[in-house]
Amino acid sequence: MIKYLLIPLIPILFLSVGIEAQTLDFNNNIIYATIPEGIALKECDCGYGLYATKSFKAGEVIYKYRHAIIGTEEKNYILKTDHHDFTLSTSIHSVGIGNNKRALYTFDSFMNHSCDPNSRSYNEAEMIKHCEYWQIATKNINCGDEITCDYNLFDYDCSDKNIYDCCCRTEACRKSIKGFKWLPISEQIGLLPTVDFYIFNQFLQDHPLFIYIEDMKIPSTISIIKNGEDAKIVSNCAHKQGDVIYKNHTLSFNDHQAIIINLNGECLLMDNTRHTVKRSDSEREFYYFDSFMNHSCNPNTISFYVSPNYYQGIALRPIAAGEELTCDYGVFDTSPDGEGFKCECGAKNCRGWVY
Ligand SMILES: [Zn+2]
Ligand SMILES: [Zn+2]
Repeated sequence: MIKYLLIPLIPILFLSVGIEAQTLDFNNNIIYATIPEGIALKECDCGYGLYATKSFKAGEVIYKYRHAIIGTEEKNYILKTDHHDFTLSTSIHSVGIGNNKRALYTFDSFMNHSCDPNSRSYNEAEMIKHCEYWQIATKNINCGDEITCDYNLFDYDCSDKNIYDCCCRTEACRKSIKGFKWLPISEQIGLLPTVDFYIFNQFLQDHPLFIYIEDMKIPSTISIIKNGEDAKIVSNCAHKQGDVIYKNHTLSFNDHQAIIINLNGECLLMDNTRHTVKRSDSEREFYYFDSFMNHSCNPNTISFYVSPNYYQGIALRPIAAGEELTCDYGVFDTSPDGEGFKCECGAKNCRGWVY
């Protein structure tokens, strides 16, 4: 019973590349960079572009590389590659990463944007320490294809290199590319699992009212099953009446905040009126995995609070492995948001309307 944006998240084939990230030789504004195997930098309609010289499977690491950290002053750098020298400039070939620093990319700063790209960069906290990133194929790429990426996923604010007439010629074309900061909030949340680490941090800094929950604390006894916009919890094993199915610590948070969860690689904004419970004028409670449990007027579980913010989910009757777990919202939600909802739980004793 949750609305969310579906972003196809391609699993990264971590074992697919043996090469090490290249080390940049940064000397007197001259950068020596080796273009990785499988890639060629070629002239095209819009100046230069990166092209595959072999095929890559979706999820495959195309190359591992490093960027350099530079300041914000406008400056030119000479990029020397095996074939050609290029000029890199602060404003065009680097992106802001906060604290008056910019990440300067080398040969792949010539990669062109597409609103429906076939690659994206990937990095995480440990890689950031070494300015390291991997370029991942998000679609199958054939030999000769241009390799593209979505600039919004690694440039928070394109600023003076905004694009107003994107020529990617894809159906998904947004026409203007101004950086992640300028995308609609629902799109930003959906894209969070695919953005660069810097963008992720900057987004949370700019939206202090969002609480990001990475770990939904899903116990081994249950699974969350999603089907389109619907979600439910099922029991992974059989239970006797009175069994403790799971224990759960809840999260109290301020009423004007909202929660973004990461569920199996998808980021979802939790609707407070549906997935959290108002506990006082200023406080709400969030239940992690249990916020996906559906209501029934004849439920098979009940929450037994052991202490504030800690309860056990108890079986009210025998439960079979694979059976959906339900609870009665009316029992624990004593000050519901709105007018309640029409119940279609199908139980003989269905109240018809749940407050
Ligand atoms: Zn476009
Ligand atoms: Zn009902």
